[in-house]
Amino acid sequence: MKRFYLGIDLGGSEVKLAVVDEKGAIIDKNSFSNNYLSTPKDVAAKITNYAKKLKGFGRVSATGIGVAGDIDQKTGVVRFSPNMKNWKNIHLGAMLKNKLPSPIVIDNDANAAALGAFWLDAKGAAKNLICITLGTGIGGGLIFGGKLYTGSTGSAGEIGHIPIDPYGAKCNCGNHGCIERYLGANYLSESARNDPKIQKSAIINKLVKGDLSAITPKILSTAALKGDKNALRVWKCYGEKLGIILSAVINLLNPDMIVLAGGVSKAGPLIMGPLVKTINDRAFKTAARKCKVIISHYTKRLGVVGSALLTKN
Ligand SMILES: [Zn+2]
Repeated sequence: MKRFYLGIDLGGSEVKLAVVDEKGAIIDKNSFSNNYLSTPKDVAAKITNYAKKLKGFGRVSATGIGVAGDIDQKTGVVRFSPNMKNWKNIHLGAMLKNKLPSPIVIDNDANAAALGAFWLDAKGAAKNLICITLGTGIGGGLIFGGKLYTGSTGSAGEIGHIPIDPYGAKCNCGNHGCIERYLGANYLSESARNDPKIQKSAIINKLVKGDLSAITPKILSTAALKGDKNALRVWKCYGEKLGIILSAVINLLNPDMIVLAGGVSKAGPLIMGPLVKTINDRAFKTAARKCKVIISHYTKRLGVVGSALLTKN
């Protein structure tokens, strides 16, 4: 009989739960809304409650939870989560013990997403895989030899917080000039709003009804698809910047596959051309040819499926 796993993707606005089989196929799923002020006790109680409603829960043999932030995988402690106020050194694993099927493993949400990409996008075949989530934050997860790599203290893969500019803007992590400040959704919207040519674009003004503060990556994609030259330029530039980062990733780690996920990755077709060209121009040739770069087909479920399979790792 197939083994079943429970996955929980603990996000700042929504908590997703699913029972999945050992290949990552979803047996049943549900979710509840969450917010920045929710207490650990309240979230833990809701998780237990919603998990028990899932079909197949009785057959679950292990639980995995993905949470944004700094996680101590060994002790199941959320050291810090940027999405949740006052979540500091929370023993989430201990709080859920005896309530959900054990073992219970907790990891960073980007690590969970990388495992999701490994099982869903790569079907378990690309043994060295890097997953990069492009959203408000830029997350990264590393799979080496088919296993998640978390480093010495659990924080490996924080690609968004690689500092690249000594005089760059301040990042949420406290540092300056992190990659996240150049590729994060907020930065993308902010720099577009301040771009004089974007401000004058008739297509964009029509889309946001004259309110430039409403410019988002989604608006920029829509405008680009309608042929707006300036929006197309924004995405070309984004693709080139991301291509430079991926060239660094390819030269450092020589992966089989890089999977792009997260909200901003929906602009995929607009960024892939400049991105691939930049990689071909800048990364080591043999390594670049070997590395397949794709947009995840499963962005919305990577986190919950990958979380479920954390214990299988
Ligand atoms: Zn940072």
